[in-house]
Amino acid sequence: MKYALFPGCASKGATPELYTSTMKVVGRLGIDIVELEAFNCCGAGVITEADPDLALTLNARTLATAERMGIQNVMTICGTCQGVLGGANKILQEDEPRRERINRALKETTGLEYQGTVEVKHLQWILIKDFGLDALAKFVTHPLSDVSIAAFYGCYILRPSRATGFDDWENPTSLEKLIRTVGAHPVYYDGRTKCCGFPVLLEKDQIALSMVGKNVSEAKESGGDAMVTPCPLCHMSLDIYQERAEDKLQREQGPEKTLGMPILHLPQLLGLAMGFSPKELGMKRHLVSTAPLIEKIQ
Ligand code: SF4
Ligand code: SF4
Repeated sequence: MKYALFPGCASKGATPELYTSTMKVVGRLGIDIVELEAFNCCGAGVITEADPDLALTLNARTLATAERMGIQNVMTICGTCQGVLGGANKILQEDEPRRERINRALKETTGLEYQGTVEVKHLQWILIKDFGLDALAKFVTHPLSDVSIAAFYGCYILRPSRATGFDDWENPTSLEKLIRTVGAHPVYYDGRTKCCGFPVLLEKDQIALSMVGKNVSEAKESGGDAMVTPCPLCHMSLDIYQERAEDKLQREQGPEKTLGMPILHLPQLLGLAMGFSPKELGMKRHLVSTAPLIEKIQ
């Protein structure tokens, strides 16, 4: 099966280590991917709120580009891209009059039309559903049996369930399946399916910091050596804002409340178990050191 990669803006900008580690892992697995010839930002749900038709038109352009390339499957590597691009795809496939209206604007501006033939799948789903966990396990040369990993799903890969539908949005299991496949132990905590606070970071930073602090400290108290997420935006809030979240937590609950939790992108977790070095997986780029995790693994 061939996939057209939709890298999203984050993996091409703020979190390039996501792109690098994805290419390494997908290359080793022999998954047939080609990058989309053209793509644009999915709008991250923000454009949808302001102008739903504009958001649909932008996403229809990406989907129509895959069709023009003759590819039926688009691979996302960002939970938010999956929610937004996948959600737009569902609307365009199911609501024909709307697709026709969007196509009129799309044709006028780009010459493209979307016929509704493409499926949008996150790497997390592709590994489980298309590639298979048994096949994946054969590539695990360095099982991570000494570490416990806390899954952080984020919102958009699970909700709205109508648009995603791959996993149980209330009690998902896909990330934990992948954690077990690489030989690590999954840990469970309340925040694993909650929001990280990213959408309110600029408006209400104190609320966002409390959300980061709560999710990370729960994961730590449940015994996690690291957290893993399928969304680079979740990664940004949990990694970049963790130090400030820790300051806030300590001011409110005392100096013993420390965090220092490494946050991994999903392909980095897989890559470690496949024998790629932390350097190859771009783990030096993280703000929270991954050294304690690496020490435990080696
Ligand atoms: S979700 Fe974010 S990273 Fe992904 S394409 Fe949309 S705006 Fe870009
Ligand atoms: S958890 Fe945060 S960054 Fe992740 S999808 Fe939800 S709001 Fe976005």
